[in-house]
Amino acid sequence: MKYTRILLKLSGEALMGQQQYGIDAVRLMQYAEEIKAVAATGTQIAVVIGGGNIFRGVQAEAFGLDRVQGDYMGMLATVINSMALQSALEKLGVQTRLLSGVTIQRVCEPYIRRRALRHLEKGRVVIFGAGIGSPYFTTDSAASLRAIEIEADVVLKGTRVDGIYTADPEKDPSAVRYPQITFDEVMEKNLNVMDMTAFTLCKENNLPIIVFDMNKTGNLQRLIDGETVGTLVTMNGTASHSLDPKHGGLTPAVTPAPEQA
Ligand code: UDP
Repeated sequence: MKYTRILLKLSGEALMGQQQYGIDAVRLMQYAEEIKAVAATGTQIAVVIGGGNIFRGVQAEAFGLDRVQGDYMGMLATVINSMALQSALEKLGVQTRLLSGVTIQRVCEPYIRRRALRHLEKGRVVIFGAGIGSPYFTTDSAASLRAIEIEADVVLKGTRVDGIYTADPEKDPSAVRYPQITFDEVMEKNLNVMDMTAFTLCKENNLPIIVFDMNKTGNLQRLIDGETVGTLVTMNGTASHSLDPKHGGLTPAVTPAPEQA
């Protein structure tokens, strides 16, 4: 098995499906099915979900409201999404635990690292709600931080695009996808992978990121099975991290040319 423990980041917006707001039940169940299939293989799974389908802190600022208050509203939005995913997984018979960065005693456990690790060891899918629990951060940063804390082998960023492209593929039809790329190249080329805090955390801790299309059925499983799906971001631009997830011995930077999408 390539990965023992993964951190899956899902955006809140992805949960909207075709809707303009909120949670699309079909999409939610699709994600739950994908996670269930991977959990059944014995891979330990932690999940961070965003809240953009409900609220983002910057929206509060746009209304002339307090940004910090808005960020807490955004964090609570992520808890709503996390609860929905938890429910969907439980409906499929998957054992889960929801751990929140903001204490909400009635509905979830507080985030305690050792407890998260224990749940993962027991094969429970762990969902981290409320991001980091502090304003001015994003759930991408929460994904990177929690992944480092739980010593995940990789951050899997599920998006609606199937990887990192030379340009925005939704705007530029000539854009091509990188199968692999280095952290340095992403920064040099100013490519949009995650916000800078999240990205830097991964880079400084040598934690690989895979950006992939989570909406394509079976992609998560394929990725876990070791197939090349999406774009892999590593220190040296190769998949050598899979041999030693906490690798230090890096080979010289070699990045293959982008492939046609
Ligand atoms: N948020 C925050 N701190 C965190 C995580 C999230 O303040 O650690 C707030 C922030 O306002 C953010 C909102 O929660 O805009 C929703 O999260 P995010 O924008 O990351 O969701 P996504 O874009 O992934 O749906």
